[in-house]
Amino acid sequence: MSDNTFRAVLVEEVATGKYDQSIVTRGPADLPANAVRIGVSHSALNYKDALSAFGNRAVTREYPHTPGIDAVGTVLTDDSERFTPGDRVIVTGYDLGMNTSGGLAEQISVPAEWVAPLPEGLSPREAMILGTAGLTAALCVEKLLEAGARPEDGEVLVTGATGGVGSIAVALLGKLGFKVAAVTGKLESAEFLTSLGAWKVLDRETLAPFADKAIAKPLWAWAVDTVGGETLFNVIKCLKYGGGVAACGMASGSQFQANVFPFILRGISLLGVDSVELPLQKKSDVWEKLAGEWYIGEQLDKIAEDISLDQAPEFLARLHRGHGIGRYVVDMA
Ligand code: NDP
Repeated sequence: MSDNTFRAVLVEEVATGKYDQSIVTRGPADLPANAVRIGVSHSALNYKDALSAFGNRAVTREYPHTPGIDAVGTVLTDDSERFTPGDRVIVTGYDLGMNTSGGLAEQISVPAEWVAPLPEGLSPREAMILGTAGLTAALCVEKLLEAGARPEDGEVLVTGATGGVGSIAVALLGKLGFKVAAVTGKLESAEFLTSLGAWKVLDRETLAPFADKAIAKPLWAWAVDTVGGETLFNVIKCLKYGGGVAACGMASGSQFQANVFPFILRGISLLGVDSVELPLQKKSDVWEKLAGEWYIGEQLDKIAEDISLDQAPEFLARLHRGHGIGRYVVDMA
């Protein structure tokens, strides 16, 4: 490959509503004219990338398109002069991979305002095992701590526990001494979840009977919900007095039927979490924490599966079906 060309995943609409993902060779003219051009060493797959890869127009308006909301690598050129060529940097969220050519490519071009230095304590691979999922999991845990969560309050429920955000939330909460009840649709992955620090593993169906109730028996002190839809409100119905849920996802849906009882009878808090438009300084602070006091070291290897760029389309399809486990790191080094 010459200096000017690079490989990328390209999603194209091949027939109305039918999307195809392939690996193509691209050149600088295919990238937007932004200040910082980065040689990407690693990316990772997120649920949002799967939505983009399969034509979800709420994520990506126009095709052909290269998805990838996460990227880590070295600065090649920087017109803003904030960075020096060779600097190790990380980009997650904002518009990367949505309507800006994304990290499932050996090069990206992004505004300097999206670029954070890679923290000292994290290798590029570790940074991508975490990626947007790790950032989001950490923000969920921060929200619970700010709301007053302490390990002695009782169990913390994590939904979508084998997914990217879920598995990292399980590991982080476990590291901080919380008893984690991990909810999954993949009971065959129970051992994986306990190895990450789950106290117990529950079948996703455990929550289903609460659907008909206005409020249910209080079972869990706090929760991280990555699933959304009816699951989110079923969780809210089962939280103990004064508890709260950090809600970040919609893997099962974006809408739910609610009532006021858990809020006005038990003082439950619904804590929204966004990692995409979060100001860069706050993102950097969370990255420093994940590289330092919240470093989950050996757990990262358990969560990660390394894949090549050529394998990205196959694994995006797996994620799209809700069959992913942990994090898929795309190695382009
Ligand atoms: P993954 O695809 O890695 O994980 C999602 C998990 O959710 C699955 O592995 C599965 O876990 C569970 N799940 C999937 N489908 C269903 C279903 N129909 N009903 C119940 N559970 C289901 O996704 P990510 O971890 O990357 O993202 C999780 C969610 O968080 C997504 O909705 C994503 O868009 C959102 N997100 C939000 C961010 C923010 O800033 N707010 C940032 C990052 C992600 P299991 O089988 O264990 O139940």
